[in-house]
Amino acid sequence: MTQNTTPLPVGSMIGILGGGQLGRMLSLAASRLGMRTHIFCPDPDSPAFEVTPHKTVAAYDDKAALAAFADAVDVITYEFENVPAATAALLAARKPLHPGANALAIAQDRLAEKTFLASKNIPVAAYRAVATLADLEAAIDALGLPAVLKTTRLGYDGKGQRVLRERSDAAAAFAALEPKPLVLEAFVPFDMEISVVVARNASGEVKSFDPAENVHTNHILHTSTVPANIAPGVEKHAAMLAKVIVVALDYVGVLGVEFFVVPGTDRPSLIVNEIAPRVHNSGHWTEAVCLTDQFEQHIRAALGWPLGDPARMADVVMENLIGDDVARVPAGIDGNTQPHLYGKSEARPGRKMGHINRITRRF
Ligand code: AMP
Repeated sequence: MTQNTTPLPVGSMIGILGGGQLGRMLSLAASRLGMRTHIFCPDPDSPAFEVTPHKTVAAYDDKAALAAFADAVDVITYEFENVPAATAALLAARKPLHPGANALAIAQDRLAEKTFLASKNIPVAAYRAVATLADLEAAIDALGLPAVLKTTRLGYDGKGQRVLRERSDAAAAFAALEPKPLVLEAFVPFDMEISVVVARNASGEVKSFDPAENVHTNHILHTSTVPANIAPGVEKHAAMLAKVIVVALDYVGVLGVEFFVVPGTDRPSLIVNEIAPRVHNSGHWTEAVCLTDQFEQHIRAALGWPLGDPARMADVVMENLIGDDVARVPAGIDGNTQPHLYGKSEARPGRKMGHINRITRRF
């Protein structure tokens, strides 16, 4: 596949689908490069609208609004992987869409994603497609228990999945999880979760940030610690797998790759849990300690610019501020800590309100 590699000039208009914190941070990074941004989101109360004068408040299936949006911008990107396929197709027919519709289609469907990864010899948990209860029974026979039953679409932050420990868990879990079809995954006995944010531009340049060690609380990312406490060699291996994925997808933009680190007799092995075709919560630490952060890197790739330097200049821990945690700013912020708040008015429980990047060692 060949892609147009002519860089867009300063002053170009970048269209961003989605008005959450990721869209907001992308918009801020784009502004810093002298770009303008136009954000499309159905929710008039979106945090990203605070940082751009150009916006469209409309549904993701509003064809007229999408066409007008595409006509008003030079390139289009998005902050979430659940962009409907018809929306992506309509936009891609009018303006360059990065990452492309193919990457989006794969990443928004767990089954398509696993099939794709496995076809490129990327290790994934053993899995079976589950459309019916009979499929689930057969999948349990094949994979054993415990196992994790997941929706193929629209799952995030642990929503849309159940751990099955006993056969008797199967029917209720099958009934509860929507939308169907589902996928059953073998339970991976990992001792750590890490992620790599990797970037590729249309010229084929690939650069990745250091792996982050991720800890989840109540299924929501709590901290990302860099460097990850991984054995020598694991870091290079993770970066290599991430590179294989972006090359195979002919990908343009930043991609989050989540891994399970599984202890082994010789050395640990890596299993890809999932990929996210966008900037990633576990890459927010790059803002504080990298010359080029993940948001700028994504914008550079979308613009057809050379990628920036992802090298890390300090050790760092990113902590999400969930719900009332946001009250820790500013009093709980010391001289080694960079706060980033998303400007959300209401601190509901479980809502990502901001994050802090705490420097733990300067080089
Ligand atoms: P996901 O929505 O696929 O990212 O899964 C959310 C979390 O559930 C992961 O970060 C893991 O902690 C856990 N998990 C998901 N799949 C598996 C699996 N196959 N084996 C063990 N733990 C899993």
